Amino acid sequence: YRAKEQGKNNYVVYKSIKSEGLNQLTLENSLRKALQNNEFELHYQPQMNIKTGQIFGAEALLRWNHPKIGYIPPNVFIPVAEELGLIVSIGEWVVEEACRELAKWRQSLPELRVAVNLSARQFLKQNLVARIYEIMQKTNTPAHCLELEITESMTMDVEHASEIIGQLKSLGVKVSIDDFGTGYSNLYYLKKFSVDSLKIDQSFIRDIVVDDNDADIVATIIAMADRLGIGVIAEGVETEEQLNFLIQHGCDSAQGYFFYRPLPAEEFRAVLR
Ligand code: C2E
Ligand code: MG
Ligand code: MG
Ligand code: MG
Repeated sequence: YRAKEQGKNNYVVYKSIKSEGLNQLTLENSLRKALQNNEFELHYQPQMNIKTGQIFGAEALLRWNHPKIGYIPPNVFIPVAEELGLIVSIGEWVVEEACRELAKWRQSLPELRVAVNLSARQFLKQNLVARIYEIMQKTNTPAHCLELEITESMTMDVEHASEIIGQLKSLGVKVSIDDFGTGYSNLYYLKKFSVDSLKIDQSFIRDIVVDDNDADIVATIIAMADRLGIGVIAEGVETEEQLNFLIQHGCDSAQGYFFYRPLPAEEFRAVLR
């Protein structure tokens, strides 16, 4: 039902885009100006250590607050931003904004981390590693407090991807594979790349309690990550039953509506307090 819900949300957004008389072209034009007009915001979804119940960090999730339409979800505008080549500058803004916010959290909780999603284009851009380094210097971010999320679809060119991941790792930043299990050749990538953690896609978590196949897949991913000595985080945890399953199978960490939805920065800070 989640895909349906997502579809419905996107439909509602498209409908209001249309009723505002915004066609694809004007949407593109307003997206071009969104950065300079300060229309982007990051929301933060707490990441939980499910053994201790503590928050160890947050994933930054991009929101476009359009002056006429309101919030437009990333699944709607990120593909457009990719196509227009805007995603690289937007993505750099995301990393810098997340690091600036992290600095505030770290005043009281110095070990807190922030995770940022990278787009394919950003990941494959020549100067990614240099840009990340500059932003870390500028914002005083210790490398181990910054995590970059990539997806399997970005790592098609295995040699190139493993070189970039190697460079990021030598900066000391953490690298995780997002939506793990939805791409292909996962096991080959695990052999080639030294990532810090796997994020089990929410489509596997959804029916974990009722579908034996999903339960077996998730239990196996957790065991495999453990054998490989890397972290594992479950995405989209919505119920206590799902949480109990994950705890029973030795999963370290999770995020999802059961704990918190993505929160505006001030609300996340309030939760930390
Ligand atoms: P993702 O990185 O896999 O993020 C998880 C998505 O699942 C987020 O959707 C989050 O709000 C949602 N979610 C979290 N917990 C639950 C839950 O318990 N149930 C359900 N149904 N959903 C949950 P969101 O914020 O709409 O983001 C969608 C996707 O957009 C992200 O998937 C990511 O791929 C992309 N994205 C978001 N921010 C950025 C960004 O700054 N840069 C790039 N390149 N991509 C981004
Ligand atoms: Mg993510
Ligand atoms: Mg994901
Ligand atoms: Mg996703």
